Formats: sequence, C-alpha cells, structure tokens
Amino acid sequence: MTRARDAAMRLRRAAASATRARDGFGGTAVGARVVEAARATHSARDSAAAKTATTTRAPTRVYIETYGCQMNVSDSDVVRSVLRAHGVATTEDLREATAALVNTCAVRDNAESRVWTRLRQLKALKRDAGHALTTVGVLGCMAERLKAKLLETEDLADLVCGPDAYRDVPRLLENSTRRLSDLSEEDRMNVLLSLDETYADVRPVRRDVGSPMAYVSVMRGCDNMCAFCVVPFTRGRERSRPFESVVDEARGLIAEGVKEITLLGQNVNSYADAPMKATTSADDDPFAAYAKGFKSVYKPKREGARTFADLISAVAGLDQEVRVRFTSPHPKDFPDDLLRVIAQTPNVCKQLHMPAQSGSTSTLERMRRGYTREVYLDLIKRAREMIPGVALSSDFISGFCGETEDEHAETLSLLEDVRYEQAFMFHYSLREKTHAARNLEDDVPEHVKKRRLAEVIATFRRRALEANAAEVGRTHLVLVEGASKKDPEAQMSGRSDTGKRVVIQGKRAFSNSSGKEVDIKAGDYVVARVVEAGASTLLATPSEITTARAFYDAHSGAAWF
Ligand code: SF4
Repeated sequence: MTRARDAAMRLRRAAASATRARDGFGGTAVGARVVEAARATHSARDSAAAKTATTTRAPTRVYIETYGCQMNVSDSDVVRSVLRAHGVATTEDLREATAALVNTCAVRDNAESRVWTRLRQLKALKRDAGHALTTVGVLGCMAERLKAKLLETEDLADLVCGPDAYRDVPRLLENSTRRLSDLSEEDRMNVLLSLDETYADVRPVRRDVGSPMAYVSVMRGCDNMCAFCVVPFTRGRERSRPFESVVDEARGLIAEGVKEITLLGQNVNSYADAPMKATTSADDDPFAAYAKGFKSVYKPKREGARTFADLISAVAGLDQEVRVRFTSPHPKDFPDDLLRVIAQTPNVCKQLHMPAQSGSTSTLERMRRGYTREVYLDLIKRAREMIPGVALSSDFISGFCGETEDEHAETLSLLEDVRYEQAFMFHYSLREKTHAARNLEDDVPEHVKKRRLAEVIATFRRRALEANAAEVGRTHLVLVEGASKKDPEAQMSGRSDTGKRVVIQGKRAFSNSSGKEVDIKAGDYVVARVVEAGASTLLATPSEITTARAFYDAHSGAAWF
C-alpha cells in the first residue's frame, strides 16, 4: 500500500517536474532522477499489461459486476446500453471478458472493503496468462468518492467513471488499450457530476430479460444532506427525468411482458418534472409540498411541476395487470395526495418504505432529517388510516454521533410502536465529506454500536414475526417470479402486493382463463392462502391463477383479504 502510494507520489512529482521542465521552470538533476523513476514505474505497469499489446488482441468484451443498491443495478443496465450503442460487446461470463467494470457502493465501510478485495482478485486475473482480462474499471459511488486514489492504489483500476459520466465509458475503455505512459488522468477518469444528466434517452439493457419484474429510474441524486450520508457527494444534486420518457420506458417494458415495474430514485418520491419555482402555500410555507410537519435543508421547487403522485398514477394507468412499486422514498415526500393515489389505485402496491433512521427527536435533529419522532408517527398513522392493510418497512442506524442510551431506547420503542414488516439496520460508519464527519464526533464506541444494533435487530425481528404470524389465514395475490430456490421441483416463489416473499406449495393451479388446472409459471398472478409464516417468508397454498383486475374487482382493490 505504502509502496503504491510512494509510486503514485513519484508519478505525480514526475509529471509536475516534466511540466516544469517543459515550461522552462525546472530540469534539475533531482527532477531528472524522478522522471527516470516514473518511466521505470510506467514501463513496469505497461509490461504487466503486456498481454494487451499482442498483435492478436481480442476485441473488447465487457463484464459488469454490480454492488450496492437497486439504483446501481439499473445504472449497470444503462452502461450496457451505452456500450452496445458503441458496438462494444458485453458478457455475463467473467472468463471470456477482456474488461471488467465494477459498479461500486460507498454507503458504508464494509461495502467498500468488499470492493477493494474484489479489485485485488481482478488484478490477479489480469496477470494470469490464461485469462483474457486486461482492463479493470471502477464505476459508481466509490469512483466518485475516491477518484484518482483508485488509479493510484496498487494499480487496481485502469479506468474510473462516476455515476453521471457513463456516456464516457466507451472512451475510457478505448483509452485503456493505449500505453499507460501516454495517458493523462483525464484519459483514464471521468468523475464529473452533472446538474441535469438523467440518461433519459438511454434505454437500459436488462440483464434479466424474461423476468416479470423491471426497474425504471425516474430521478437521480439527493439534495437532503442528511448528516451521515455520502449520497449527495457521490450522486450529486437531485434531478428528475422528463415525465414522458419515464412513461414511454414503462410502456415499452409492458409491451415486453413485464408484470411489475419498480420506479427508482435516491429520493424517488421527491420526483418533480420541470420544477418552476419554490412551492409555497397561502401562508407562505416553503414546505407545503411535503407531508405535514416535515422540513428539509433546502426549499423544494415543485410549483407547476408534475409530481411523483402524477407519475405513479400515469404509470399505473398504462395497464391494470401491471403492478407498480417504488424505492427508495423519503418520509417527507409522502404528502396526503400521494397517499391518496396509492390508496385509490389498485395496482399501486400497498407497501411503503418509510426510513426513520432513529426514533429519537434529538438524534434526528443531529442527523438533519427534517422531522421529529412525533411528526413521523403522525405520518405512519395517516398512512395506515388512508391505506388499510399497508405494509411498512424502514431503515435504522445505530450508534450515530452522540447517541445516548436514552436515545437508543427511543429507537427501540419506535420499533415496538410501529411494528415494521421489513427493516434495513446498520451501525453507523463515518463517511468523509459528510456533515457528521466535519461537525460531529463519532463518539459511540464500536462495541456499543454493535450491541445497540443487535438490540434493534432483535426488537425488529420479534415484532416482524408477530406481524407475519397474523398473516396465517390471509389470502394474497402473488406475482410468481419462478421456481422456489429451496425446492424447485415442488414449489414456486413470488411476492405479495405488500412485498413479502411467498413460497407457493405445489406447481399447478386452476386457471380462471382456461377453466382447467395448469402449470404455474413466472408472471402468473396466483391467489394463495397463507398456511405458515416465518420471519421473512410466508408459505401459502394456491387456489387459482387469475388476473390482477379480477382480484381487485372481487376485493374492492384490497391487497389481501
Ligand atoms: S435522503 Fe438523506 S439518507 Fe437518503 S440519500 Fe438523501 S442524504 Fe442520503
């Protein structure tokens, strides 16, 4: 590591020396020695890539490996599309790839550690004469966060590309075939963030063609600046895709046979197409567009814009046989009109992710989340009143800066009070550049963070088990994804409208449309009764294969009965 850093420093000094010499400012004996050292380093690195320099160089075939959130999965589809438009082939098999692009996540330390380990493995493959791999690139949030450090550290990356620069991947790949010593940093890296890039005109190439589920990215970036979060620094400012481009992409997916569309964004429900100016109500409330009582560090510009409620309504209106979900939302962007659209549109799934992060008002204030425990609980109450049977999920961070035992206890009590059905729980890990890293002290000892996280997980699990136990005897409309992993010969697997994994016992059911018993297949809607419930999976027996419309009509639009 130190040697690599030294080499990188020598390279930088050498470049500076070379520039000074060219400009007539240097050329000392010391400078000349450094240039020689840099040349030696260059030539060693060039020879490590010697297999690229053969006259029979294979055409580029790119393998993309994705870490992190669903947004990254969707971005990898965008990169595939950009590459294909440039005539660059992609492959799902690393063994035949000449270039591997690792789409990374920077949200937590351990997510980054996994990527560093993977980059070292890929570097070893590059040296393996029996392997075609010659180029390794880093895409995504780590690329944005670490920038040139990725190029300099142990030669782990040949190219680096941030989330807003994916149109530039073909150029960076092309450059990676040239001699390293001929390349500048700009030739190998593009981490420019954009105020308007949404890849609206790029039709993503889905890796899982044939799946009944698909994702459509509707907005990028985040303006919220929560104290702990690196996303605003790695993904840039919030911007939304044009309304019609989202609807067109959804229409195309439906024509391909997709039965469930998930709308995606870092802050998906703050979607606002063509915002004109800051929203204010009659009493000049700049946060009038938000759920009641919520605020943010910026004034949202929503006036005259088509909002997320309009968008989800339009996508759901394309075809009632296609379910619509969304992730990942912020609680502030659940105004009543959005809750109403979700309640009144049968094919918008009755599952809401409401990331709380903490149950303590004072911790939420340090986190700069823009709400109190009370305001959050009011929203939960409203959501449950307006959308009967809605399933709720959340995110929690244990051991944030300054968190006391009392504040932690308030998080446990929030978990008790709300009884979430799913949750994503982590202990706090400091991220450079964030408000917390600059202004707060990461003062909760590691063992305390871990103990508190274990208590949060245990409380969540106990309550989720109780929620799932109440499912026994209920009937759900399950969208089948395929054979179950555990017992593919005897069971099928899918998801309820409320987002729960449902394993269906048996592989045949009566079909409403044909009037006889048929095989259950991926993309079918199956009416299934829950007979057993685990912590995260329901076991159900099928009664019939039906249409979404028939189910909603028979049960007044309810997600289950
Ligand atoms: S809302 Fe907060 S936690 Fe979520 S991405 Fe934006 S800054 Fe990060």
